[in-house]
Amino acid sequence: MQERSKRSGFSHSLLDRAAERRCDAAWLAAALDNGRYLLFDGDRPLFRSVGNPTADPVFPATDARRLDADTARAVFLGMENDTPVFAAPIPSTGEDEEPPDNLKAIDVRSIAIQGLVGPELLGPIAQAKSMLDWHARHGFCANCGAPTEMSDAGYRRHCAACGASHFPRTDPVVIMLAINGEDCLLARAPRFQPGMFSALAGFVEPGETIEEAVRREVREESGVVVDRVAYHSSQPWPFPSSLMIACYGRATTQELTLDRSEIEDGRWFSRTEVAEMLNHRHPDGVFPPPQMAIAHQLLTSFVAGETIF
Ligand SMILES: [Zn+2]
Repeated sequence: MQERSKRSGFSHSLLDRAAERRCDAAWLAAALDNGRYLLFDGDRPLFRSVGNPTADPVFPATDARRLDADTARAVFLGMENDTPVFAAPIPSTGEDEEPPDNLKAIDVRSIAIQGLVGPELLGPIAQAKSMLDWHARHGFCANCGAPTEMSDAGYRRHCAACGASHFPRTDPVVIMLAINGEDCLLARAPRFQPGMFSALAGFVEPGETIEEAVRREVREESGVVVDRVAYHSSQPWPFPSSLMIACYGRATTQELTLDRSEIEDGRWFSRTEVAEMLNHRHPDGVFPPPQMAIAHQLLTSFVAGETIF
């Protein structure tokens, strides 16, 4: 059976990360000259042939050089068979300006929702976006304030002034479906598309287990008490560098006290209603997040009776 985590977007990669190559300077120098590149204009990957089923965001090194890609800031993503693949920024054109050569910069959320690339390329795009974003925001040492330098092909930043090493971060977020018998709890934030309801979610705090974070977030946002927690699956979420950890929580109370600072509306939905939502046939016109989102997969498993405590 396919691993549950593989059902969500950003969870497949055609690359072998080949971490053993990251500190091999001679190999890296040659690979940068001959490799292939995901090129980013700010936080948006560049594409050629947009609107075509073969929309392609992977460029040869010759194109990377022609577009002035900053290869000194290139991050090694991994190997596609025998070909090294990197991510590198090009000089930013800004939101209102188009990149050169009829190329198009497209935001990562749209790429995933519209399925502009195959699933096996979404993983490397997520990896690239999170890594380039981290480098763009960590030019100075958090320990002493001096400028830091990229090393290990992008997987470390080193501070020559104080000797500290800094590593790319991943922020764990719990996203959970509280379940009470045949019902599950869904809510919507003001920023959601009108009509969309999703699972509750929140950052795991320092010193907290995943189970504790699930119970705390559900309690804070809805007033519902959860006892048992079961892991469902995980999803890299490159906005900018989260790991979504999807769980079910067994609710022991039903009454809702919604946190109105975060939640616009929320209520219990029966399994039948969730099935209607997934088919876009709910009588109220409410619907779930898109298929690439892990919340969609939590709901699909709930309807299929996969919920296990
Ligand atoms: Zn330092």
